[in-house]
Amino acid sequence: MAGINILDDSTINKIAAGEVIERPVSVVKELVENSIDSGAANISIEIKGGGIDYIRITDNGSGIERADIPKAFVRHATSKIRSIEDLMNIASLGFRGEALSSIAAVADVELMTKTAGSILGYRYCIRGGREMSFDEAGVVDGTTVIVRNLFYNTPARRKFLKSAATEGSYITELVEKLILSHPDISFKYVINGSVKLASDGKGDVTSDIYSVFGRDIINRFAEVSYTSENCTISGFAGKPETARGNRNYELFFVNGRLVKSRVLSAAAEEAYKPYLMLHKFPFVILYLDIPPELLDINVHPAKTEIRFMEERLVYLAVADTLTRGITRTELIPQAVTVPESPAPAPAQEPPVHVPEPFETRKVQDYQEMAYTGYREAVRQEMPVQETLFSEGFLAEENKPKHRIIGQVFKTYWIIEFEDKMYIIDQHAAHEKVMYERIIKEVKRGKVTSQLLSPPVIVSLNASEEAALHDNINVFEEMGFTVESFGGREYALTSVPAELFRLTEQDYFLSIIDDLVQNNRIRDPMEVKDRIATMACKAAIKGNTAITFAEADALISELLSLDNPYNCPHGRPTIIAYSASDLDKMFKRIV
Ligand code: ADP
Ligand code: MG
Repeated sequence: MAGINILDDSTINKIAAGEVIERPVSVVKELVENSIDSGAANISIEIKGGGIDYIRITDNGSGIERADIPKAFVRHATSKIRSIEDLMNIASLGFRGEALSSIAAVADVELMTKTAGSILGYRYCIRGGREMSFDEAGVVDGTTVIVRNLFYNTPARRKFLKSAATEGSYITELVEKLILSHPDISFKYVINGSVKLASDGKGDVTSDIYSVFGRDIINRFAEVSYTSENCTISGFAGKPETARGNRNYELFFVNGRLVKSRVLSAAAEEAYKPYLMLHKFPFVILYLDIPPELLDINVHPAKTEIRFMEERLVYLAVADTLTRGITRTELIPQAVTVPESPAPAPAQEPPVHVPEPFETRKVQDYQEMAYTGYREAVRQEMPVQETLFSEGFLAEENKPKHRIIGQVFKTYWIIEFEDKMYIIDQHAAHEKVMYERIIKEVKRGKVTSQLLSPPVIVSLNASEEAALHDNINVFEEMGFTVESFGGREYALTSVPAELFRLTEQDYFLSIIDDLVQNNRIRDPMEVKDRIATMACKAAIKGNTAITFAEADALISELLSLDNPYNCPHGRPTIIAYSASDLDKMFKRIV
């Protein structure tokens, strides 16, 4: 083996820089975090050439004392912690003392800074880790950092950068999130000389949401809040119609830090699961306040990943807060949609790095707990907000005011109520109603059975037989009666009544199939997906004429459900057009 070399500082810094500074957006993130930590009320961010050519961050924060200026660029130099114990109580965004040294190792950096207490300010230039100049300068209180020619001395890294436009778009997405993370700070963001985003810093999140996502979006959110001893949550839950094709809009801010967390994402996705189609992800903006000693943020140099000491409670708090937010709001999507936010969404869901949680429990386990009533049990201990619609289309007392206009295309029912026209898909509605009926019976442990005479005979192979024997209780709870019929033949003598119209053995065999692949089930709720498929098969189809009376009964039952908005597969059951939507389309109003 070749001799061992001890690397020089410049090489060490370049290697370390690779971890912290991956692309221009990482520079912006680190510098803005420093500005936030400095107590700034105003931060301006300016980029040119996608941040590869030029990044300038200016703040009106504390500034840096003369003697500290060169020190700030030494690796592991930080004013934010003294020892590892301080990490337990970290309130600042930075603490690793790596950012300035890393940036200076791979770029041209110019720093101008002045503290309020000093008459003079300073200008310090450093390039590739080498000090170029250090002079007095007439500057205002606060700090400006200018970064030019990023990765000029690490060509391999530079080659991996994308176009200036793409690198710039990553920075824009980051700035949007930074604005949302600190409503109390006024941000200004300038790209190639023109102002792209600005926030007023008055502390009102809604005004920041306006500036980032536009005015219309706010009507498509429900405000949520939650308080317990160790966790406060506030923020916004997007109505299901705002769902996205990736996790980019699951925005979680923990103590003012934008974080990624499997636990938080899983909690949000579970809350939205009944309302979203497969492969859709919720749009949520949640602010969590959790005592720092219950967090570990030192998981990764970029400090975007986080672990919770009380993972389970955080999971449940988030899932419940969102569930309450969604169920409190009337979620019927309005047919005229608002344009999507300008931020470009990547075509594919980026891989999520999964940190090992404190507890060994996996995210799937939480979902399972949620299922088996654990979530309900915890929910009972949580402050309950009074629910649902006392007014609106879904309110029981408004039923007499619904005017059923009729059916179109033998599929959709049109109903007028107040200033809106509602369109209901009869198949989706029936499917949902049947599904809920069965789920309700299963939950109560009392599924109504229908006798089959003559019985249906099914023959099972060895593994199917074993699956049946292992789970016979579950089948009985679901309304099946299965009797041995000699050899491997079994007689189905009764089946769940709701599904009577189906070819009964289909349902039975599909559950057996599942069992053979997935072992034991403890609870009939675990075959919810099967129930959904069967409800779909048994429901009246589109393109079928049904009578007014049938439609009326169906609609009433649908509207009485907790979640009447989607079929079990997540497709919408109801959409609405307001009178003013129609007026707009006919250009009566503009
Ligand atoms: P960290 O943020 O982890 O402490 P950095 O390398 O980002 O490490 O910064 C080093 C130090 O420089 C900080 O601890 C802080 O004292 C000082 N500093 C950096 N940027 C600013 C700023 N914008 N305003 C005031 N002080 C700053
Ligand atoms: Mg820092």
